[in-house]
Amino acid sequence: MPSSDETETQKLAIYFDEAVRFFKSQSSPGECPMCKSVSWALPSEIEGSPLSLSDSGMRTLDDSPVLELKIICNVCGFLRAHRASFIREWLDKNPAGDEVTENV
Ligand SMILES: [Zn+2]
Repeated sequence: MPSSDETETQKLAIYFDEAVRFFKSQSSPGECPMCKSVSWALPSEIEGSPLSLSDSGMRTLDDSPVLELKIICNVCGFLRAHRASFIREWLDKNPAGDEVTENV
């Protein structure tokens, strides 16, 4: 039986440029709620590897770990977490290269 952690992590792999694309077009971090800085960092990347996701400690209904992508304020260290599955879903619906257009 494969480890569900590994399966979930592979399924939700998010690469640096994908995360940048998501945050730029979908969810700009804006000001840090703690210190009002606008300087955020993604988890340190290993070239060519997905960003590291954190186990939130929660479980989904099918008992997979709920994974988060955390970004960190460069000034005060405040951590902001996004559920990785939401980012992955948005990326899959909005593939790179397609201009994101708002359907009105
Ligand atoms: Zn801050």
